[in-house]
Amino acid sequence: MRNFSNDHSALALNTATLGHNLDGRGAGWSPEQVIDACAARGMAGIVFWRREIGPRAVEIGERVRAAGMEVVGLCRTPYIVGAEAPRDLDEARASIDMAAGLGTSILTIVSGGTEPGTKGVLESQKILADRLASLAPYAAERGVKLALEPLNPMFGGNRTVLMTVRDALRVCEMVGAPNLGVAVDVYHVWWDADLRDSCARAGDRILGYHLCDWLETTRDMLLDRGMMGDGVADLKAIRAAVEDAGYAGACEVEIFSAADWWMRDPAEVLDVMVERFRAVC
Ligand code: ZN
Repeated sequence: MRNFSNDHSALALNTATLGHNLDGRGAGWSPEQVIDACAARGMAGIVFWRREIGPRAVEIGERVRAAGMEVVGLCRTPYIVGAEAPRDLDEARASIDMAAGLGTSILTIVSGGTEPGTKGVLESQKILADRLASLAPYAAERGVKLALEPLNPMFGGNRTVLMTVRDALRVCEMVGAPNLGVAVDVYHVWWDADLRDSCARAGDRILGYHLCDWLETTRDMLLDRGMMGDGVADLKAIRAAVEDAGYAGACEVEIFSAADWWMRDPAEVLDVMVERFRAVC
């Protein structure tokens, strides 16, 4: 396991942590301000959300690399299954194009919920696999890997049919594409006593590691994530599980926190991120 107590060269910012940098959420920093602030702190890179990028993928990607960092990933495709998924995969393909434009190799996928007309998750997972089988080659041609992010089971129904790393691997195995893998997010998996085994099975299919903390008392299921060290997740054990499986990539801080961290000065948030990463992650 890597030792980060004096080193945060693997630390990356997911811009959700700064309230998506959009007006009304966080301080509304532009991508350029975020890039400069992360570069000034010696971070590895940044993960953007599609709505921040618009038509400027190539320009923003170049700006990140000129600042000495990488675009670690892009969040995310539209839902692929469930009532809120688009009728076709055009928008999903456009998000693959955007990732390629940014020059990042990782595009995150949140599956979407249970497919209309079905019950439970298994049938939806099969439908998800069918659709991913048609997307994966398109992504591979553009140098993009697709990272399925399992979500905490409380997001079942309308947001996900993948609740565990094991679920995501089941879909990966159904598809069999070399560029399809898993993103492991502390917020979603911290409770899973089988996580270590699942990660070992995932091996080099682990494409991302997302950091935050699970607060002992969560006030809002979506928007009350904790800063690392403020909650009850065993951060070192989770990172050990991921790294012992072979993961050696960036550690991406992704904190949705409408009532706390999004209310603060982004510079303070970034400084605390660096400090906590070294101290408790
Ligand atoms: Zn995540």
